[in-house]
Amino acid sequence: MKLKGADVLVAGAGPVGMFMALRLAQEGLSVRVVESAAAPASHSYALALHPESLELLDQLGLAAPVLASATRVSRLMLHASGEHTAMIDLSQLDRRYPFLAIIQQDVLERHLVAALQDRHIEVLWNHRLARFQQDSDGVDVQVDRLSQYGTGYALAHLERMVQDTYDGRFGFLIGADGNHSLVRLQSRVDFPASSPSQHYAVFEFQSRCAPSDQAHLVLDDRTTNVLWPLPGGLQRWSWQLQEFEASVYSREKDHELVEIGSGRFPKFEHDLLLRLIRERAPWFEAGSVGYIRWSIAVRFEKRLASRFGQDRVWLVGDAAHLTLPAGIQSMNVGFREAEHLACLLTDAARRHQLEALEDYNKSFTDEWRQLQGLDAGLEAGPKTPPWIADLADRLLPSLPASGRDLRALAAQLGLQAPALAAGAAPA
Ligand SMILES: Cc1cc2nc3c(=O)[nH]c(=O)nc-3n(C[C@H](O)[C@H](O)[C@H](O)COP(=O)(O)OP(=O)(O)OC[C@H]3O[C@@H](n4cnc5c(N)ncnc54)[C@H](O)[C@@H]3O)c2cc1C
Repeated sequence: MKLKGADVLVAGAGPVGMFMALRLAQEGLSVRVVESAAAPASHSYALALHPESLELLDQLGLAAPVLASATRVSRLMLHASGEHTAMIDLSQLDRRYPFLAIIQQDVLERHLVAALQDRHIEVLWNHRLARFQQDSDGVDVQVDRLSQYGTGYALAHLERMVQDTYDGRFGFLIGADGNHSLVRLQSRVDFPASSPSQHYAVFEFQSRCAPSDQAHLVLDDRTTNVLWPLPGGLQRWSWQLQEFEASVYSREKDHELVEIGSGRFPKFEHDLLLRLIRERAPWFEAGSVGYIRWSIAVRFEKRLASRFGQDRVWLVGDAAHLTLPAGIQSMNVGFREAEHLACLLTDAARRHQLEALEDYNKSFTDEWRQLQGLDAGLEAGPKTPPWIADLADRLLPSLPASGRDLRALAAQLGLQAPALAAGAAPA
């Protein structure tokens, strides 16, 4: 069967793939999206939009509706080993929206889906890119249409079967297909880990605290922990688990590990949250924890693709990199990648010249090497407080920013990111 062609096929309708499709269409290219899942994300996952992401969404007219569903964070309190605190003030950033917009990923994705629908950009849900082959003029793709059946057992479990297979031809293929990217695998691009994996227990709960514009980053000798205020009177604690704790929950099967929520371990779950608060954040009012809406144990790691693509096939977002969760960098830098690539690709399509696309590979490889601490990262100066200097490496993936905003926030702590200035993609 035939799949109608277009200038660009985007594989993956996660936040980065949908943003990419919207920007390509805005630039005047025809675009189609295939997504193997049946529907957008159903949980909060990456929950903060950086100030620059809000500007990017604004180009699409999406900042206002997104902000209407979000809560704002303009200060990040840094707590270290129960002894030191420092305040990071996002309102000082030279940005149109100098704050983080806290919005659950499922809500953000619903806004992006609605924008795609408004612009008549078709997303083929339940359609999985199966293989592709590029030549000098375009990319031949094969896409499987999947069906979905519940197996009927009490534990929700879905089996998927290939219903039909479609062939199509596109000018370019964008792999926005996440962590286990087929586009990356079939392009034979390596995806090495740059640090051991870390496990986090994430709890989202109804809070009895007054709404706040403050998030908290809590670091001790071994762990990184974050408290986010969420819309709707919710809060989220993400706790890095130590190795012995992680082994209790982990099946090491996938990105998502054992689900410790959903009422399966309700008492234990509540006890664990209270214990972590007592041990690591005694200043937090444990009595404010209400109903635990969602909790999960998740494994995070730092990985970077050896290339961001070539000629007519390119990677964006988690398909090209993974990082630790506190700074919400993977999704937000993913939006910047999509923006940069959409501009270069539009130009390349019009002029039938692909050479300029190499700039995308170079810029974001350089930037991610720095974000992952593979090249020079944050550096302390003579006036940097020693406790901050000691934490510099761990602060790099934990600050909710990239590019020039990351440099500005780091500077508030007395840290410099000199190497990030050179060769980094425009920010
Ligand atoms: C439980 C959980 C908690 C998280 N918490 C945080 C956090 O606290 N902080 C943080 O920064 N990040 C967090 N993340 C990660 C965050 O969700 C990702 O960084 C973000 O979703 C990346 O967006 P993306 O669009 O690049 O990829 P994804 O959102 O992964 O989207 C990729 C899409 O491609 C689809 N796809 C895959 N293969 C194919 C194919 N062959 N054909 C068609 N479609 C395909 C997938 O179904 C998926 O919808 C979390 C993730 C999970 C799972």
